[in-house]
Amino acid sequence: MLKGGLVVVGQHVVAVGPLAELQQSYPEAPLIRKGRALTPPVVNAHTHLDLSTVPYFRGGYPGFIRHVIDHSAERTVEAAMRGLHELRALGVGGFGDIAYRPEVAEWLLENSPLPGVVYLEVINRNPLQAEEVARRVARRLSEWRARDSQVRVGISPHTPYNVSPELLKKLVEIGRLEGFPLQMHVAESPEETELMTQGSGPLQEIPRQYGFPAYQALPGLTPVRYLAELGVLGPHLTLVHGVQVDEEEVQMLAQSGTLVVACPRSNEALACGQMPWDLYLKHRLEPALGTDSRSSSPDLDVRNEALFLWEQVDPRVLVRAATRSGYRVLGLEMPRITRGTPVSQVQSW
Ligand SMILES: [Zn+2]
Repeated sequence: MLKGGLVVVGQHVVAVGPLAELQQSYPEAPLIRKGRALTPPVVNAHTHLDLSTVPYFRGGYPGFIRHVIDHSAERTVEAAMRGLHELRALGVGGFGDIAYRPEVAEWLLENSPLPGVVYLEVINRNPLQAEEVARRVARRLSEWRARDSQVRVGISPHTPYNVSPELLKKLVEIGRLEGFPLQMHVAESPEETELMTQGSGPLQEIPRQYGFPAYQALPGLTPVRYLAELGVLGPHLTLVHGVQVDEEEVQMLAQSGTLVVACPRSNEALACGQMPWDLYLKHRLEPALGTDSRSSSPDLDVRNEALFLWEQVDPRVLVRAATRSGYRVLGLEMPRITRGTPVSQVQSW
């Protein structure tokens, strides 16, 4: 692979280019070897900062859902503060966060020095409540949007099976009309596919176990086909995970302009399988990277997600996933490394 470099004088970059050319132009400059890549600050496009104090879990996806439900009281502002502190220490350029409680979203809006999007999570399976829930979400987000903040607000319908189709359509309509981005966990685990296509499997046990309302009639379609049928795919939607997909589904995502975030270490921890990167790249859909939460990832550093895949996926794609594709998901412009860039804005991998 071509070796690149930067010439630094004082605290600023003065030249960028292939190493051999830089050495010709600056023969006196001492060579300091860095790691695998030098990039603008990376982006963590999907996390849940409010799960930062919940213990790391390894095991099947249904067990993980129980683990998160059992620890839901810990999803507090204090936990989100800890997560935000970790992101700041890593020097990320932006983050996409799912907030389970409105007060966590409000705290991030008021206190985050980092840019990004905080998506308010919505879970409601009762179609009779769709109108009321959608109205409440729209009102809240309009009010939040009026605030002066580094962070934009968005909507996160939890999963295809945890939001009624009536509510999902309304939320996507609000997002499209009002310009609120959406992020949703889709096609993450084999158990999700079994639930959606056959209405059976271990996820069915969870509402029963906790006394929650049962799942409504399930569509008999895979998660991505179901979303396509509802007409909710598109560039306003970021699909998180996209592991359990076939080529036709990847094509549906690519053609609709839906954005995708991969969380490979979480997928491995929860026995969800591996995202088919080759299919996504074949259809010119480059996923971004997220760590998911500290409850299924050992840290919040997306560079470690990329390194986890370093031998399997073209490293140039992985570097773009942690930078360019991540900024795109958040609707932020990616800073360029150029003459005059402060060295503090260059990340070494
Ligand atoms: Zn997640």
